[in-house]
Amino acid sequence: KMRAAAAPFRKTLQELHRRHAGLADGAVATYIPELALADPSWFGISVATVDGLVFEIGDSGRPFSIQSISKPFVFGMALQDHGRDGVLRRVGVEPTGEAFNAIILDEATNRPFNPMVNAGAIATTDLIEGADAGERFKRLMAMFRRFTGRDVHIDNAVFLSERTTGHRNRAIAHLMRNFGMVGDRVEESLELYFQQCSALVTCRDLAVMGATLADGGRNPLTGETALEPSYVKDVLSIMLTCGMYDFAGEWAYRTGLPAKSGVAGGIVAVVPGVAGIGVYSPPLDAKGNSVRGIRVCQDLSQEFGLHAFEAR
Ligand code: GLU
Repeated sequence: KMRAAAAPFRKTLQELHRRHAGLADGAVATYIPELALADPSWFGISVATVDGLVFEIGDSGRPFSIQSISKPFVFGMALQDHGRDGVLRRVGVEPTGEAFNAIILDEATNRPFNPMVNAGAIATTDLIEGADAGERFKRLMAMFRRFTGRDVHIDNAVFLSERTTGHRNRAIAHLMRNFGMVGDRVEESLELYFQQCSALVTCRDLAVMGATLADGGRNPLTGETALEPSYVKDVLSIMLTCGMYDFAGEWAYRTGLPAKSGVAGGIVAVVPGVAGIGVYSPPLDAKGNSVRGIRVCQDLSQEFGLHAFEAR
């Protein structure tokens, strides 16, 4: 059935790309030089289905740093390493309505609010198991490989600038160290966090990663299990409530898809049981989400009735 629909869907993506390519809104992130080098016209869309079809248009093969889109996947890894209770002792599941890099913890529990803001993400990265920095890094890369179905590498220039300029993240990490929300390896975990943000992906990779979550944790291209099926709902529900910065509520209301965006201009969205969507376009709106990425996902959701709570 999906194969028969492939040709018209390819056409839909072409139209969608053409419709939004001319948008001039938004601005490329400039907090590190590497991101400021991005061309605002770069624009790729990819959709991967749970039966293994991959559609792509535009700059779908252009690599960019995954940034905050790594957060839900590392959250999944922490759940596998420590179980639900172990993870929830260190990070909550409540949206903040605050900026992603806010220096706040839940006063009642001292936990960061959720794994999609920097504080929660750093606490989550701290939970990645391994004897030393090298082993933890290798396990992180192996996790990305299971989700994308190919080797993932770090952009070293991005990593070095994240590390050099990451004073705020360092402050957040040490505040959490004070409250016991991260362990003794705080510096090592910060490095690992900067490395995870610097992983290079394409929007095609994001689509496949999304399709893997859509398919209950199984990568539809390789057949490999990337995440234990019982934790898929944990990851998707956090993406639905906290995935799109301060726009998360609007997004859930309008688009109804679990998603995560990153400061380099990527967005991954998941249609559970059906497909993953990956979009790349560097210009960001005031909330930090890719302008074209938002439009593409919104249009796909509306045109195909993909909202999670669509009456069926
Ligand atoms: N490396 C960025 C930071 O931690 C990630 C920003 C993002 O994609 O939201 O500040």
